[in-house]
Amino acid sequence: MGWPLDNHTGGGSFVYHWGERYCAIGFVLHLDYANPYLSPFEEFQRFKLHPFLRPMLEGGKRIGYGARAISEGGFQAVPELVFPGGALIGCGAGFMNVPRIKGTHNAMASAMLAADAVVEALAAGRSGDRLEAYEAAFRSSAVYDDLKRVRNVKPLWSRFGTIPGVALGGLDMWLGQLFGFSPFGTLSHVKADADSLTRARDSRAISYPKPDGIITFDRTSSVFLSGTNHAEDQPVHLRLTDPSLPVSVNLPEYDEPAQRYCPAGVYEIVAQADGVRFQINAQNCVHCKTCDIKDPSHNITWVTPEGGGGPRYSNM
Ligand code: SF4
Repeated sequence: MGWPLDNHTGGGSFVYHWGERYCAIGFVLHLDYANPYLSPFEEFQRFKLHPFLRPMLEGGKRIGYGARAISEGGFQAVPELVFPGGALIGCGAGFMNVPRIKGTHNAMASAMLAADAVVEALAAGRSGDRLEAYEAAFRSSAVYDDLKRVRNVKPLWSRFGTIPGVALGGLDMWLGQLFGFSPFGTLSHVKADADSLTRARDSRAISYPKPDGIITFDRTSSVFLSGTNHAEDQPVHLRLTDPSLPVSVNLPEYDEPAQRYCPAGVYEIVAQADGVRFQINAQNCVHCKTCDIKDPSHNITWVTPEGGGGPRYSNM
């Protein structure tokens, strides 16, 4: 947890061993990071060079790549769960347990609660209405308790940094577990991820090493392994509310961080005869939705793309 990030940038990691000598390795970086020069993709490459991980990967072959934003708002950020004809369950409802980087248990449990409500509704001859029974069942479920117990971990982490923040979060979880009490009550999240960047002029530029092609790789060849291939003439699924903002605001203020936070290299600042322009290589998008969350001008909207273009995660 934490490495190779600094104390004020949250993150964690996982390694799953599976099948015949396969290994799935992942790196989580909290999108409330402050430095606009930071690249989550490059931090992941650095992470793989840790002396504990490197020997695990040496001699291996990279066979897949993907990226995804995960909802870490937790207990304080659970939205209304039902709407006419539908319900939000699992990670779509933000049920991931942040300190455990784990959401499958709550995804399955909430799906079962929703299924019970569906069966009840169908038995009563209802359809297309709100499954209020699911919302009520969630509030008295183990999923609710699980999220409530860890609700202050991320807010404390954001306020105090990795070492003191996680220590305080651990203390808070133990007090909640043993005595059902938190000295912090329920802390709010500090600010939206898009509003957490500092200005480029106040930030430390980061120079990442070139990939070695053995343990570390570039984005272009990684995206190729995601099995993403959108038709170039499909409707644009990455929409700018104001097309001028990337160059007029984001570039001078934040050195246009989309060039770095996108794990697929979709966004580029391209030089041309009369200055620069903002280029969107939408066909490379792996649909992580980071741009929709992190753009400091709140200017990018990801919409559902035309189907069938990937990513295709084989063996997952
Ligand atoms: S364009 Fe946006 S949604 Fe697509 S890969 Fe890049 S950051 Fe993720």
